[in-house]
Amino acid sequence: MAEQSGPLAGKVAVVMGVANQWSIGYAIAESLANAGAKLAITYRAERSLRDATKLVELVPGSKAFQCDVDSDDDIDKLGDDLKAEYGVVDTLVHSIAFAPPAELRGRFIETTREGFITAHAVSVYSLIAAAQRISPLMTNGGSIMTLSYLGADRVFPQYNVMGVAKAALESTVRYLAADLGDARIRVNALSAGPIKTKSARGIPGFSTMKDAAADKSPIKGELTAKQVADVAAFLASDAASGITGETIIIDNGFHVLGI
Ligand code: NAD
Repeated sequence: MAEQSGPLAGKVAVVMGVANQWSIGYAIAESLANAGAKLAITYRAERSLRDATKLVELVPGSKAFQCDVDSDDDIDKLGDDLKAEYGVVDTLVHSIAFAPPAELRGRFIETTREGFITAHAVSVYSLIAAAQRISPLMTNGGSIMTLSYLGADRVFPQYNVMGVAKAALESTVRYLAADLGDARIRVNALSAGPIKTKSARGIPGFSTMKDAAADKSPIKGELTAKQVADVAAFLASDAASGITGETIIIDNGFHVLGI
């Protein structure tokens, strides 16, 4: 078990969206634990409990909670459980996204109403819903963050409706930041370059995106989840007290290139 020392010692961090050890949420939870934070891990499917438990074992007093963000009852229960278990929460990491696989094939113009609604409900509204229940527990101020992708601003083949959802997510970050600033709660997005995870493998154009980024970025090579996670630990810390409403891009510099 890690000693609770470091810049986040004594803080409680909720990390939503650990599917397995390859999840960006998993790497973020590890970084937050290494910085001393007590963890509350959420997972959707029972099969994720094994890896969620590995994280819980890193810091005494950590726990895992099942939560499907399609269900308001689940999110209500999560808020109630966090209040009962920890009282105060300091950090919320939202690392959740989903679009029906059919929407990530073919042309964007073929997006269905149902696919559009599902992608936005799971990938965007869930951040608002979680902030509604968890920001009231941030009585000492706090840091909320979510995961985005450059597909919010630029067109990547077959990223399709997820790109539009990420644009909505980044806008949501700015609106939440404006609402929650008075409570000294900061809200930011981490825009990560391509990293091989379960969700990423579901995007047919993912290998092309990843290989192009690794070959062309100013800093060559594949981005790791740890590189993103270390920025998350910074954002969770008081060192980032002046940053809110921001989208921080961690992509080895790929986004600065024109050609
Ligand atoms: P992942 O598959 O490990 O994580 C996605 C998570 O979303 C899983 O834990 C899954 O259970 C959860 N989820 C989906 N539907 C849910 C629901 N209804 N209720 C609760 N949880 C649900 O993949 P990842 O790549 O770690 O994705 C995490 C975040 O990072 C996503 O927002 C993704 O868009 C973003 N992101 C990923 C990359 C990449 O290249 N991997 C790049 C930029 C941004």
